[in-house]
Amino acid sequence: MIKVMQPEFITPEECLKCKVCCRFSDIKTDFRPYLDSKEVQDLSCYTKKIYLPHIDNRRGTRIIPQKKDGFICPFFNLEKNSCSIYEKRPFDCRLYPFVVMENKERNGIVVGADISCHSIRNAIGKYGFQKYVNYLQNHFAGYLIEYIEKNPFFVMEYQDCVQELFLLKSFPEGLKKISIKDSLLISDFLTKYKRCSLSFYSFAPIYVWKNVTPIYWKIIEDCLYIFINAGGWFLLLPPIGKDKKHLTTLKLKTAFDILDNLNCKHSPVSRIENLQDWDCCKELKNVRQSDTEYVCISKEIAELKGNKYKSKRASCNYFEKHNDFQYKKFQQDDIEQCIDLYLRWAEEKIKSTDEYHKMLIADALFAHIVGFQFCQELGLQVRAVCVNNKVQGYTFGFAIDEENFCVLFEIANKNIKGLAQWMFKMFCKENISYKYINLMGDSGLENLKGVKKSYHPIKQEPIFTGSMLRLF
Ligand code: SF4
Ligand code: SF4
Repeated sequence: MIKVMQPEFITPEECLKCKVCCRFSDIKTDFRPYLDSKEVQDLSCYTKKIYLPHIDNRRGTRIIPQKKDGFICPFFNLEKNSCSIYEKRPFDCRLYPFVVMENKERNGIVVGADISCHSIRNAIGKYGFQKYVNYLQNHFAGYLIEYIEKNPFFVMEYQDCVQELFLLKSFPEGLKKISIKDSLLISDFLTKYKRCSLSFYSFAPIYVWKNVTPIYWKIIEDCLYIFINAGGWFLLLPPIGKDKKHLTTLKLKTAFDILDNLNCKHSPVSRIENLQDWDCCKELKNVRQSDTEYVCISKEIAELKGNKYKSKRASCNYFEKHNDFQYKKFQQDDIEQCIDLYLRWAEEKIKSTDEYHKMLIADALFAHIVGFQFCQELGLQVRAVCVNNKVQGYTFGFAIDEENFCVLFEIANKNIKGLAQWMFKMFCKENISYKYINLMGDSGLENLKGVKKSYHPIKQEPIFTGSMLRLF
């Protein structure tokens, strides 16, 4: 149940005269309003302007702005300069110009006031403002803490234009929530102490999941620890530091001491994912293979020569012969069409899959959206295929190192024969300077495994998960 603040700090009359809110500087700003799962549900029947929700109601999402006179909220009526869903507007909009964000030190969550709002600028330092802040702190902080427990993505990253007012809570264990600003530092660790060429040892494939599950990190004694909180805490990768291929007892103890504090002692959730076979030392228990990454020779896929690629070649030829198509670099203007395509693709997929895989499909959409929005910063190559001027396929990839290129996501309209094969071939052709193409894992999906194997991978790299045998 949304708690409504009484009274709101700025009157609707004041806002109607102003032209700041509901317009955004760019498509990915954290000032886009957040809709919790209930609001997503309520508003999705009201309008189709918000994406996805019919396939997933577990969590909220920020709206995707429309490009119109800059960027505007899809619920904003530009002509009337007002919100078309005013009575139903999300809690985030009701709270604004007060916001919940990480503090400057990035070790906690604060309530702040956006000084881009002229009413806030005029009010700061005055009695009425302080009285309102006291009201928020004394009567609202408990509700906000509860709200962000359920809606971790409601919390914005630190913003220079927001004045911090009071602390709501600190992050546990001195962890920092992942931000695009961490790209250099984390990439530096992953490159400097490179352990292998698997996909998850890069910043981009980690960061794209930031709106699916909260991701945190910490450096301890020159070693990087990346934590995930998905209803319980675990390590996404083994600690990354100088020892490269050695998962030392000390690092294991450090990791599991923190996990014990975050979960509870010896919790079965405490584990390390994306381990290599050389990590599977005697201190680890419950070691199991969690996935397999498939690696192909890029030249083979780009050329599709020989008998083993006969059917792929035929599919590509069919596509080329029967379609009016264009293979192009993704532009931010394509985002709506790409999401539409994903939703159509997902609707078909979820008809024939179990609950767990439905969840994976819903999660992936959030990751694709982050990929589209941050493709430049993440160094992602994004390509779209238009058939009859409509996006019918798209693919993302990134360079793992000089030899390895990874295809992160790929979506193609299944009703267009040969499109998926042709798009993959083109992507490999474009990246032929990399010797290997990593197709990532199969997430335990038999049909995905079949598709990946049909490209005749030269390597199949197993990935393990393990927890710790506590001897101390
Ligand atoms: S910037 Fe302030 S005054 Fe202007 S519309 Fe937004 S909340 Fe209202
Ligand atoms: S939901 Fe309404 S108040 Fe909120 S940003 Fe959109 S148009 Fe503005």
